[in-house]
Amino acid sequence: MQVYKFGGASIATPERMTALLPIIQDAAQPLLVVVSALGKTTNALELVADAAIKNEVELAKSRISELEKQHIDYAAGLLKGDKLEQLKQELALIFTEMQWAVDGAGQFAFDYVYDQIVSLGELLSTNIFSHYLNQEGLNNTWMDARDIVRTNNTYRDAQVDEVYTQKQVSEKVLPVFQRSGIVVTQGFIGSTDENNSTTLGREGSDYSAALIGSMLGAEKVSIWKDVEGLLNADPRLFSDTQKIPEISFYEVIEMAYYGAQVIHPKTIKPLHNNGIPLYVKCFLDKSLPGTVIKPEVATENYPPIIVLKKDQVLLQVISKDYSFVTEDVLSEIYEIFARHKVKINIMQNAAISLVAGVDNREDKIGPLVEDLKQNYNVRRNERAELLTIRHYDEATLQKLTTGRKVLLEQKTRRTAQFVLK
Ligand code: ASP
Ligand code: MG
Repeated sequence: MQVYKFGGASIATPERMTALLPIIQDAAQPLLVVVSALGKTTNALELVADAAIKNEVELAKSRISELEKQHIDYAAGLLKGDKLEQLKQELALIFTEMQWAVDGAGQFAFDYVYDQIVSLGELLSTNIFSHYLNQEGLNNTWMDARDIVRTNNTYRDAQVDEVYTQKQVSEKVLPVFQRSGIVVTQGFIGSTDENNSTTLGREGSDYSAALIGSMLGAEKVSIWKDVEGLLNADPRLFSDTQKIPEISFYEVIEMAYYGAQVIHPKTIKPLHNNGIPLYVKCFLDKSLPGTVIKPEVATENYPPIIVLKKDQVLLQVISKDYSFVTEDVLSEIYEIFARHKVKINIMQNAAISLVAGVDNREDKIGPLVEDLKQNYNVRRNERAELLTIRHYDEATLQKLTTGRKVLLEQKTRRTAQFVLK
């Protein structure tokens, strides 16, 4: 048993979807295929939800029509004759459901409406994918993940009920593999015990693949991306990136913590807990070895791993009466940050002050600073960047910090961090 996850980019065009055939043909079965929405569909659906909640009915309608046309054109690029007609009918049903969600939006909270609409992107893409594979002789069974993945009703960030979901996986998914070598389902979505659709947070398909994979007892999970594997830095921000052939779960969690947008952070836990390796493979060239993420990596000879978090604000919190920032004061300051749900990305304290680097979210920082100002003076240093280098060497530190103004610097044996201007 193995799991393949295909993200939006891998199916952005009919040509891309066609190019996935050999990948699936060559895959050992049983194979669970977890799929995201086509290309940037999720972003487009967010705009539908936005118009719906603002009661901009015509705007929502025209956005839906545009999506409908895109999906039908896409399907027409892959399927023919009766098969296309049947698929069109199935897509039409999903678009009707979308229109209903828009029509009824007024009486509900935004997050609920969002999930009823945005979850449909994955239903559309998997319908097309499943029909297309069947047409090409890759017989498969389509499953609605909302019948499998049970969540609470924290819409847009739904938490999975793992006990119930495991039961569904064992009772509903496993038996299907008796008659079908391939099962196609959606990432990113689930449903509540009242059958309302939920989403697991943006980019949540990786997590779905890992979760269902671990519940199926898969030998491995592979995520197919447009890069050759996991790189030691974001290639959009740094030149001379290096691919990492093997990396531990621990290291990937660290990277995600410092802000690397590599893999959805929730993905690692179920795989780690069940000792299932995660492969990051390239759909543009399946012969490339990719990266394997696994519990133990024999030689931890990692290259310097670089993570840059832009758009940071450095807050300096100074006690008004010049009293020392002792443990009780620290815990009071932390409590205020926690209350405003502002995550501290880096922190350092001195005699009468504390410095904290946080994401520039004015909606959160504004009220936070107001609260802090009751007992403290607060200074803000805007437009900073947080640079983290794991497994650093002097040459890399030099290269990345020369000519920059260093506002804050911290080093441990493995990790160097700088707040830079
Ligand atoms: N389609 C969803 C998103 O774009 C989920 C995913 O791609 O993982 O956020
Ligand atoms: Mg996506």
